[in-house]
Amino acid sequence: MKLTQHLSEATKTIISFEILPPSKGRSIESLYATLDPFMEFHPSFINVTYHRAEQIYKKRDDGTFERVEIRKRPGTVGICAALMNKYQIEAIPHLICGGFSKEETENALIDLHYLGIKNVLALRGDAAANEKSFSPHPNGHKYAEELVEQIITLNKGLYIEDDILDGVKTDFCIGVAGYPEKHFEAPNMDVDIINLKRKVDLGADYVTTQMFFDNKKYYDYVNKCRELGINVPILPGLKPISSKKQLTILPRVFNVDVPIELYTEIMTCKKDSDYEIVGTEWLLHQCRDLLKNNCPVLHFYTLSKPEIIYNVLKQLF
Ligand code: FAD
Repeated sequence: MKLTQHLSEATKTIISFEILPPSKGRSIESLYATLDPFMEFHPSFINVTYHRAEQIYKKRDDGTFERVEIRKRPGTVGICAALMNKYQIEAIPHLICGGFSKEETENALIDLHYLGIKNVLALRGDAAANEKSFSPHPNGHKYAEELVEQIITLNKGLYIEDDILDGVKTDFCIGVAGYPEKHFEAPNMDVDIINLKRKVDLGADYVTTQMFFDNKKYYDYVNKCRELGINVPILPGLKPISSKKQLTILPRVFNVDVPIELYTEIMTCKKDSDYEIVGTEWLLHQCRDLLKNNCPVLHFYTLSKPEIIYNVLKQLF
């Protein structure tokens, strides 16, 4: 079922998760072990991230180096199919522009369509590890809006090869990314939201936000989006903090602020279990506030410490 249909038919708050494919060589069983306990909360969706190839230098036997491309976390599409089969719930693969030609994207969309996948999250992706800034595939997309346009075109049954007549129409529900604290490349919030609006005007059905730790930033963002004419659902992305390291890593990697109160509480923690208590309380407070404000979805990033999210859900529902 499409996410938008779930939303319109929901009689209570929808729960969803984002997971990463296991590192190459690791078993999918570890993913199931993380997800199994969450099934009691009847999540409606599980997003599966996409990780592009990285270039690394590998030492040859003669001591010289060769540059090779490796994907450390392959399997996004396979995992989506496995999750849908195992749990009978919708899986949402993330599709990125980076590293993909338009034709490869079209072929990926055809695979997803054949698998019965109805939802995709359309993203640009970040610069590759060896690049200073994002550079698209020579025959690919520069911005997520172009990917949205390609998906919409396929939904109309129009393929890149224009001699395909009466092409099968795909029927993807399209999500896109939004940033309550602004995407790091955007010159200001207004420009970032205008860029978001273009994705929505082209046909994106909903927005999933970057994580945030201060709900006010999310509410302000939603209000600003509404003022600028974005009327699709904006799903809040939530993640627990569970270590001191994250106070510097999360702002650096995801360009998000950690509120001073949360920072202070984490800094006064003495042992690992204290971090978990603070992370749980903070996330619980965020969720209760979102529910009080009639937020229809709680979308959790289960990258690490799924037990915190489990404890929060146990106290909420
Ligand atoms: P875009 O919408 O293309 O925006 C990128 C930047 O360009 C923004 O600053 C925007 O304001 C600007 N911009 C947009 N259009 C234009 C235009 N026409 N002219 C000028 N400027 C423009 N990354 C992964 O690699 N894999 C994942 O699975 C993944 N999942 C994610 C899930 C969520 C919910 C979020 C929020 C992010 C995720 N990311 C993922 C990270 C994402 O790929 C990066 O944040 C990336 O830098 C931007 O992607 P985007 O889709 O927002 O890009």
